[in-house]
Amino acid sequence: MRPFTYDRAEDVTLAARAHTGQGQTDAPVQFLAGGTTLLDLMKLDVLRPDRVVDITPLKARHSEIEVTSAGLRLGALASMASVEDNPEVKRAFPAVAQSMALAASPQLRNMATLGGNVLQRTRCPYYRDPSWAECNKRKPGSGCAAIKGFNRQNAVLGVDDRCIAQYPGDFGVVLAAFGAEVEVAGPGGARRIPFHTLHRPAGQPHLEHSLQPGEVIIAFRIPGGATARRSLYLKVRDRQSYEFAIASAAVGLDLDGGVVKQARIGLGGMAYRPWRAEAAEAALVGKPLTEDSAHAAAEIALRGAVTHGHNDYKPELGRRTLVRALMQAAKMEA
Ligand code: FAD
Ligand code: SF4
Repeated sequence: MRPFTYDRAEDVTLAARAHTGQGQTDAPVQFLAGGTTLLDLMKLDVLRPDRVVDITPLKARHSEIEVTSAGLRLGALASMASVEDNPEVKRAFPAVAQSMALAASPQLRNMATLGGNVLQRTRCPYYRDPSWAECNKRKPGSGCAAIKGFNRQNAVLGVDDRCIAQYPGDFGVVLAAFGAEVEVAGPGGARRIPFHTLHRPAGQPHLEHSLQPGEVIIAFRIPGGATARRSLYLKVRDRQSYEFAIASAAVGLDLDGGVVKQARIGLGGMAYRPWRAEAAEAALVGKPLTEDSAHAAAEIALRGAVTHGHNDYKPELGRRTLVRALMQAAKMEA
């Protein structure tokens, strides 16, 4: 690991002075929360910050878990484990608790924070190994080794010929599906942004997200209601635990006598960034939730998928995962 300076930010104002170049993969200043992504990538020599600003003191004020009739407000410094174990979250919003419980390992979930989780980096093997010369995300303009290389895990939605990296996280898929908002604080004060604007599209792969320098994520707001109560997160992976998704679906249904009043659908393991399938949601509204209507929605959700050889299996797996998630959600008591 390369040498770096270490500071602690005792509050948000001090964190905001850090001038993190956060949207960039190669930012010279990085915040440290649980460290389970950052330190990994520093050891691999992928991230090379000169300065690391520890924001764990912000836990004291920004790790709250609030459950109200309007939904959830989750402090960004809360650990994944604390959300997974919260009985109110499990009752009001099963998909959120499940997206934590099915991620990583208990040890990692004790360390890892929600803010760090949504900003975790892709697991594309060429990104994580600097001995590969071609990786536009790590080195802008160098090309993409995955397109003609080993791409079994790579994305099929939202990709372009500069990068086909898969967004690896689970919680972000739920945030996308349910139209969450992100509270951030920084040099320009506090603001709220829609979650779907946090991660950038693939056009400039080395620019990961839209936070401004010095901006720190404070909290996530996720709207509640009937779709939240009848929600679930289904994850398909190569082994049953301690593995990233090759396909996942976050779904929420508001049903009236078996007919869909409102649907929420997010897809994981498929896309360049946390993915909401709005056209598939709209296709379900006003119809009875049956195998046929679920299959039709899944066709729409994966329309436009682009594959590159090893990941040719993904669109079909994505469709089946979504159908299974919808049928399971339909059977839930809500
Ligand atoms: P850090 O490593 O501290 O930070 C990550 C990035 O986010 C850094 O760039 C940091 O500067 C930035 N950052 C952190 N907090 C903030 C904030 N509040 N505001 C602004 N910027 C911030 N995840 C899954 O979802 N599913 C899995 O199945 C899964 N499996 C895993 C398996 C392994 C072996 C490992 C190592 C990780 C796995 N993960 C998985 C990823 C893990 O969940 C993330 O590493 C973790 O959530 C990151 O949180 P952290 O607090 O440790 O972030
Ligand atoms: Fe790099 Fe993206 Fe290509 Fe992977 S898919 S090698 S992260 S440019």
